Amino acid sequence: MTDTADGSPYHVLARKYRPADFSTLIGQEAMVRTLRNALESGRLAHAFMLTGVRGVGKTTTARIIAKALNCIGPDGKGGPTMDPCGVCEHCVAIAEDRHVDVQEMDAASRTGIDDIREIIEGVRYRPAAARYKVYIIDEVHMLSRQAFNGLLKTLEEPPPHVKFLFATTEIRKVPVTVLSRCQRFDLRRVPIDVLSAHFARIAEAEKVEISPEALRLVAHAADGSVRDGLSLLDQAIAHGGGVVDAGQVRDMLGLADRGRVFDLFDLLMKGDAPAVLALLGDMYDSGADPVVVLQDLLELTHWLTRLKVVPDAAATAAELERTRGADMARRLAMAHLTRAWQMLLKGLQETQGAPSPIRAAEMAMIRLCYAADLPTPAEALRALNDGAGTRAAAGAPTMPASAGGSAGPAGAPAAARAMPQPPQPPQPSRPPAGPPNAPVARLAASNAAVATAAAPTQAVPQQDEPPKPNPATFAEVVALFERQREPKLAYSLSREVHPVRCEPGRLEFRPAPTAPRDLAPRVAEHLSQWTGRRWMVSVSGDAGEAPLAQQRAQAEDARRQRALAHPLVQAAMTLFPGATLETVRAKDDDGGMIASSVAADAGMAGGEDVPEAEEYPTDAFEEIPERDY
Ligand SMILES: [Zn+2]
Repeated sequence: MTDTADGSPYHVLARKYRPADFSTLIGQEAMVRTLRNALESGRLAHAFMLTGVRGVGKTTTARIIAKALNCIGPDGKGGPTMDPCGVCEHCVAIAEDRHVDVQEMDAASRTGIDDIREIIEGVRYRPAAARYKVYIIDEVHMLSRQAFNGLLKTLEEPPPHVKFLFATTEIRKVPVTVLSRCQRFDLRRVPIDVLSAHFARIAEAEKVEISPEALRLVAHAADGSVRDGLSLLDQAIAHGGGVVDAGQVRDMLGLADRGRVFDLFDLLMKGDAPAVLALLGDMYDSGADPVVVLQDLLELTHWLTRLKVVPDAAATAAELERTRGADMARRLAMAHLTRAWQMLLKGLQETQGAPSPIRAAEMAMIRLCYAADLPTPAEALRALNDGAGTRAAAGAPTMPASAGGSAGPAGAPAAARAMPQPPQPPQPSRPPAGPPNAPVARLAASNAAVATAAAPTQAVPQQDEPPKPNPATFAEVVALFERQREPKLAYSLSREVHPVRCEPGRLEFRPAPTAPRDLAPRVAEHLSQWTGRRWMVSVSGDAGEAPLAQQRAQAEDARRQRALAHPLVQAAMTLFPGATLETVRAKDDDGGMIASSVAADAGMAGGEDVPEAEEYPTDAFEEIPERDY
């Protein structure tokens, strides 16, 4: 993506339009302001950490800072300035990448202690020509631990004539000890309209005619990165030969026509599977990548959801997004949008890994079609409650009107309320004469209901990633290793050791014979690094508890048994034969059922009063496989 189509150096816009000073650096006003204040008040740190996504201008900023520090002005008498002149010997030499006192190093290719040692040695000598010796180290998180340690001493007591400028895309991989000695600047993703405007100026300077919509597509695909955007613009210009329109850019990016993405989403939400497949096939034939189509649908789902929450967001959007988007956002229920998001996301993952992406995409969309008119978990639960309540009160068992979640003739179901126009699939309570899609719909309905019965609460909130984690329990320690992508150690900790004692800073365990022999020191090293404090990890002779994984399996089993015994779950299982209990999520520590199911009990007036199975033609469900999505 970053190469130009013809590879000719003339076209490399990212280089040609690289900002030479802060006034031409776009989208980073906040950082520039902070930097300016620091420089003008003379409180410049000796080390900077520039962080942000790739292509956002980190090394460019580092070079401008190097100029700012060393500029002597056109007359040779100026001091450090936020507006380097660009003409003095230092500015020119730095711009041309040949200044003796400004060293740039890419930590991605030079990660070792020897590379750092060179720098550490050089730091002792005064700059040859400039005011400061500046070391720019890109992708600094790639340095080895040894290299970081070597650097640390210099960072603690740097000579006054030395400045370090570090850049990284992964700030979390930089040791806290290093971070704490740097002034940190976060470079932000450049917003789409700023990128568009920037690209428009460049297109004009390049004398290329490019439509605003095409610019917007490029800016969008750049995802906040100026460099990526300019590479795409290069490519678009090479493709277009002087005139670039949105269609060309779409082709280049493999994007489907925006209007057709809207059409597709509309059909999906209506559950019109044949039409969806026809349109998808058509888009595929005209060159759209199935993965990109799914990404577009996801993006549209996100946009519509946002629009529901913040209707004002439409003001700055493109025409189609604004008009059609607003209309769709109004018609669709939030629960349906969030479900579509989840299913599309799953579908995207499958499609990315599938041997035949188009087939995987078709499957994902068919699934979504059949889910379109199902009730949301909340609706299913309500229906279940209402049905049970009515039955108990009337004394005559009747199928709740919308328990199956699909639209009954009376138009009562909530799903139909939310989405006025879905085709009405048969009611699950009717005999098995339905079209072939019926079992699928029923299956999903039963899943929805059972999932609801077991866990209608919101997903357990994920712990936010704090800057410095501080695990206090063994489970938290294991979770930290999982989060930090150390699966082998996490595996060993959860399966191959018996926890004896755990408190912040201290961990004791008895390793099983299969555990790696150096487990304790490695765990200690990682914990100390991540938490920024010293951890003692020792091997104990005490028996300790059962390994964590085993404890969890037992707890899960016990929870399952309790949940299965719950009257509401039993009722749901009877109502939806073929349903299985997938997961049980506890709301509190005792693993009890959630509050809303207690309310459900009240509605069921007598709890044990489960509907008689013969009311519902069980043979209709026999072909239903276990749920798989
Ligand atoms: Zn200068």
